Amino acid sequence: MKQNRVPVIAIVGRPNVGKSTLFNRIIGRQDAIVHGTPGVTRDRHYELTDWNGCQFMLVDTGGYIPQSHDSVDAAVREQAELAIDEADAVLFVIDAGSGLTIAEQQITDHLKRSDKRCVLVINKADNPRTTQTVMADEQIYRLGLSDPVCISAISGQNVGDLLDRVLTLVGEGFLKSVDEIVYESNLLQLAVIGKPNVGKSSFVNAVTGENKLIVSDTPGTTRDSIHTDITFDGQRFRLIDTAGLRRRAKVKENIEFYSTLRTLKTIQECDVAVLLIDAVEGLADQDIRVLEEARQLKKGLLIAVNKWDLIEKDDKTYLNYERRLKQAIEPTTYVPVVFISSLTRQRVTRVLELAKRVYGERNKTISTSRLNRFLAEAIARNHPPAVRGKDIRINYITQIKSRPPVFALFSNEPALLPPNYRQYLEHRMRETFGFAGVPLSLTFRKKSKDRVA
Ligand code: GDP
Ligand code: GDP
Repeated sequence: MKQNRVPVIAIVGRPNVGKSTLFNRIIGRQDAIVHGTPGVTRDRHYELTDWNGCQFMLVDTGGYIPQSHDSVDAAVREQAELAIDEADAVLFVIDAGSGLTIAEQQITDHLKRSDKRCVLVINKADNPRTTQTVMADEQIYRLGLSDPVCISAISGQNVGDLLDRVLTLVGEGFLKSVDEIVYESNLLQLAVIGKPNVGKSSFVNAVTGENKLIVSDTPGTTRDSIHTDITFDGQRFRLIDTAGLRRRAKVKENIEFYSTLRTLKTIQECDVAVLLIDAVEGLADQDIRVLEEARQLKKGLLIAVNKWDLIEKDDKTYLNYERRLKQAIEPTTYVPVVFISSLTRQRVTRVLELAKRVYGERNKTISTSRLNRFLAEAIARNHPPAVRGKDIRINYITQIKSRPPVFALFSNEPALLPPNYRQYLEHRMRETFGFAGVPLSLTFRKKSKDRVA
């Protein structure tokens, strides 16, 4: 069965074999095109990228190796095993200069046990002599993996062939792009996301325990998530709860990193994601990353501050909390926030009401005539500035798609339009049409009659 998401490809291997160099080499090319937000992605070791029209999530497993000598082997192993379990295909990197060690054998054993698709990569093949020695080393073939691909991550040599090879291995089992995600009609797929222990399963239990709704008796599960189908207030919902990691991890950062990766897989399938945060602990860095990803993927969003029962409060507490939260999640401030307790069930069905509203907003279509009336008013109120002596006109707006909404605006000089004017238009659109919890895509195009035929 085809997965409703793009594949996850992990780069695995011992420290210093060149994993990060390879990661940067692969994402470096398309970084700006796919993400368009400089600076946010550098330190996080995963990236949605593409090769030859196929998107995939690339994961660099370097980092989080404790320095103390005797635990290094165990830590490398934990890293590699978690990554292999979470990935759909693996780039297993070894170093042409230093050949095989016990770590490579252990990684191979785990790859075989987990039956994961894998390409063996010999990196640093820029030195022909050492590469020849490695290639002649029969131990490499005794691993029983695929024929190795020799690359140089530093120069980029053969990296394209490597990507061709791994994407062929992944085959037809995944989407080629997140834009191909299949949404079932009238089924609101609600991803329940958040850090481990924030209360995701308690929330799902609290919701399904409510007698106002109908729980279907055939919950489904996938490798990454648990699905529960319910009907509430006339709307069919599928609650998607990210399953916890199956493998126990000793390093705390590993648990966070691989839980986040799982969450990203889940988010791809949903219409709306509800991010649970712990009222006492507040917003964590990984929450901000997950929000950013959901925004990039154009998902509907809302935030539920859970464990609200643990907070001592007066009538202003939630307002102050919400204000600070919105400051911390700039520019995703259009997200509705609700304060809940999965323990006492306080306001848990409010989450469903809000999710339904966001779903409706994400699916809605605004007529071209209304949009153009809006545009005329917005421009009359605040005209685009002249840039380099050129008068910028925006002549026409139309919605080219919904679920998620995308608008095209036609201008004589789209490239010159300053970012703050784009923000102004988005802001006015939200004031006029709503779109609570929904990321808006405004694409600016050259007015067609100016186009060269
Ligand atoms: P990681 O720990 O596996 O992520 O390894 P890094 O990417 O940090 O690389 C370790 C060292 O190997 C760095 O000094 C890199 O510059 C170097 N290196 C990485 N790839 C190549 C390569 O293709 N050729 C050569 N000569 N050096 C490389
Ligand atoms: P998950 O890992 O996100 O699925 O979190 P769980 O649902 O397993 O909950 C983690 C812990 O938080 C459990 O001990 C829950 O009983 C507790 N918990 C969950 N929701 C609430 C809540 O609203 N209030 C309080 N006080 N505890 C909660």
